[in-house]
Amino acid sequence: MSIATTNPATGQVLKSYDPMSDAQVDAAIAQADRAFADLRRTTVAQRGRWLTAAADLLDAERDETARLMTTEMGKTYAAAQAEVTKCAAACRFYAAHAERMLADEPADARAVKAARAFVRYQPIGPVLAVMPWNFPLWQVMRFAAPALMAGNTGLLKHASNVPQTALYLEDLFHRAGFAPGCFTTLLVGSDAVDRILSDPRVRAATLTGSEGAGRSIAQTAGRELKKTVLELGGSDPFVVMPSADLDRAAEVATTARCQNNGQSCIAAKRFIVHTEVFDAFAQRFAANMAALRVGDPMDPATDVGPLASERGRDEIDAQVRDAVERGATVLCGGEKPTGPGWFYPPTVVTDLRPEMRIWSEEVFGPVAGLFRVSSYAEAVEVANGTAFGLGANAWTTDPQEQERFVTDLDAGNVFVNGMTTSFPELPFGGVKNSGYGRELSALGMREFCNTKTVWVGRGEATAGAGAHAE
Ligand code: NAP
Repeated sequence: MSIATTNPATGQVLKSYDPMSDAQVDAAIAQADRAFADLRRTTVAQRGRWLTAAADLLDAERDETARLMTTEMGKTYAAAQAEVTKCAAACRFYAAHAERMLADEPADARAVKAARAFVRYQPIGPVLAVMPWNFPLWQVMRFAAPALMAGNTGLLKHASNVPQTALYLEDLFHRAGFAPGCFTTLLVGSDAVDRILSDPRVRAATLTGSEGAGRSIAQTAGRELKKTVLELGGSDPFVVMPSADLDRAAEVATTARCQNNGQSCIAAKRFIVHTEVFDAFAQRFAANMAALRVGDPMDPATDVGPLASERGRDEIDAQVRDAVERGATVLCGGEKPTGPGWFYPPTVVTDLRPEMRIWSEEVFGPVAGLFRVSSYAEAVEVANGTAFGLGANAWTTDPQEQERFVTDLDAGNVFVNGMTTSFPELPFGGVKNSGYGRELSALGMREFCNTKTVWVGRGEATAGAGAHAE
């Protein structure tokens, strides 16, 4: 894949880059390694000041940065502005809370026959971040803010279609005060990742992306014995039960499916509706979806911009056509438009069957699959019936049913009477083929820390009865 900015609203290539050579990549890794030696010795308070400065720059530069993202990957300008603001808030969150998250945690010294025992969180070194284009700033920030606060350095291999946002991020952290090498953008294709991750100076990797990329990185990391965090795809269920507020559920379902032009890992993708309210929900949902305005992502009146790539649009078009050929019913949308740009209309398909691709694959665009179920048990069975387990949404006002969904849905997060989203305060991640490890919160910061056990004795010959040599 070439490294270039191509405007998805027009299909025009605006700027392209030569990939960095192996020698340039090696020099960048060496610099990240040297920068780590200094960064780890700075105080949390100092790093917090730099991250706060990054937040201030993000706020001040919100509109230009948002325009850049919209031009590179097609999200609406309003959504891009909100993404910049969210990134600034995450920087401030980690700047404010890292001291507590990284503080030594005392343990029961008597129980372990020590004078003192505690856990210390320390940075591990340069971490490779392989990131996707769909939230080009936020996906990187939710790795970078906690990683830099912990004292790690970051090497970013961003998606090949968002090079300017990638370069902006390096520049941002540099201007905020982090020394050269603390955060470096590597303009390389995915074929360079194996070599970078195999470098002994690179200590770990985080990937947000597809299952295929996850398998590839996990394979290299396994061979090299390196820690990874993988945030992969999802096909989140959105279950609607008879007690739900249908108007609200249909409204949120529309946003949950079409935000970011339908290209979100945590978008609701499968709408699983109890038969008692199926027709009423389907009618409201399809009407809402059909009413969305598709068009120029810079136009404030636009709800849904183009897909980020022609390949992405062809893929969802093929998934819809496959379902229709096998007997699915289209309630709205379903026709690939002609003309420039990679637009696709909000679409609802129902009468789905397991042999259709849409049943089990992730659909990365504004296309909703609508499933009819006749009981709680069947709703959970369909909801859990994919290889993914990222997020899950359940709509019910029955407190007991809410509790059962929380326990029974096999996903990294469950949102009841709402849509899945991410907050710096809450851990984020998946189970099954949606990946492993967690981002955000204190857990996200500690993924790339050495959780060091410290035991300080009184100098006796042994640790005492009950201790075992390992
Ligand atoms: P993708 O092809 O996997 O690309 C993501 C990143 O991985 C890009 O930087 C890409 O580089 C790189 N990459 C691709 N193949 C690779 C390989 N074999 N080895 C190493 N790196 C590789 O993903 P996408 O299709 O563009 O993005 C959408 C996917 O990301 C969806 O499945 C979505 O659900 C998932 N996603 C997950 C989360 C989450 O938090 N769980 C969030 C957002 C998106 P190039 O661009 O150079 O190919």
